[in-house]
Amino acid sequence: MNIKLELEALQPSMVAMRRDFHSHPELGFQEFRTSKILGDHLEQLGFEVERNVGITGIIGYLRGGKPGKTVMIRADIDALPIFETTGASYASSTPGVMHACGHDGHATIAAHVATVFAKNRNELSGTFKFVFQPAEEVVGGASAMLEQKTDLMDDVDAVVGLHLWNDKPVGWVGVRAGAVMAAADSFTITIKGKGGHAASPHQAIDPVVVAAHLITALQTLVSRETNPTNTAVVTIASLKAGEGASNIIPESAELRGTLRTFESELRSRLTDRIKEMTVTLSSAFGATGSIDWVDGPPPVVNDSSLTSLFEQVARDVNGSVSTADQTMGGEDVAEFLARKPGVFFFVGSNDAATGRDKAHHHPGFDFDDERALPLAAELLAKTALEFSKI
Ligand SMILES: [Zn+2]
Ligand SMILES: [Zn+2]
Repeated sequence: MNIKLELEALQPSMVAMRRDFHSHPELGFQEFRTSKILGDHLEQLGFEVERNVGITGIIGYLRGGKPGKTVMIRADIDALPIFETTGASYASSTPGVMHACGHDGHATIAAHVATVFAKNRNELSGTFKFVFQPAEEVVGGASAMLEQKTDLMDDVDAVVGLHLWNDKPVGWVGVRAGAVMAAADSFTITIKGKGGHAASPHQAIDPVVVAAHLITALQTLVSRETNPTNTAVVTIASLKAGEGASNIIPESAELRGTLRTFESELRSRLTDRIKEMTVTLSSAFGATGSIDWVDGPPPVVNDSSLTSLFEQVARDVNGSVSTADQTMGGEDVAEFLARKPGVFFFVGSNDAATGRDKAHHHPGFDFDDERALPLAAELLAKTALEFSKI
């Protein structure tokens, strides 16, 4: 079995599959075409396949010829609500929907690792469980699969997944032991005051003023209440009040925001404090504050000994491996990594020479699929093989 050579031979097939997915992007929980192609692909390879897990998720099992551990290989498959501007020949054929994060690449990479593993089945140790997850961008795809299939992680010994990373060029590979991406919770605050004439504020309870105080007060949760050596973000990203009239005090104001943290203790304390401030500060002004809290995924935490194993594989495959920066972005691969040890790594994918170096979620996003896909697939395949022998 020569993983590198076999994947190199599959490079044209990888580029073709990725570009086909790219031109047929589907939003979270609507990845019916993508999911069917992946399910059919795995079935043709002789995998045992479960379809429609978490609406459009796919699970494929391949049992190797020798005993070993069960390794879960996770790839996400959804696109984003963006109008593509790349002008590529394989650009989105669905206006307003675009693979602008590289999940078309992730699905392709895992599918071709499956191809190589199936071909070499008898030589493999253990079981490989390929999980194609829907709806990463809207956060909820991993949870939907776990809710429908509550024993999804029971037989898994180790998890591996990756993200193509357009901030870095092809040839850069990064990983970080411990927390690498943040827990990403979101909330909607409603402040109910009392509407009235803008010229008679004494007869009203102005929710706009309360919202202004609350937004300012919430800033102190990070600046004054969080240990400066810890990391957290509280952002109010949306504020809505009134209908545009300058002479009406509105009845209510609505704030939407997000809390990002790495540590669970800090996460729960700041969650409590945001809720508490909403209620008490509103009531101090005679208004009523309520909050609708949505728990997002936990932080993405890489197992330290599996990260060391990955680093060995990466040095062997790529010659070098970097320590990835922590980011306050969220990723719901965290749901799987919170249940079983594993590694989520990053593979540089930009190519400035061909202009394929725009940021993730940019309407002009594209990446060097010719070079990044075979490299990422080799890393994923060899890491999964190492993990099957732990
Ligand atoms: Zn994304
Ligand atoms: Zn992504």
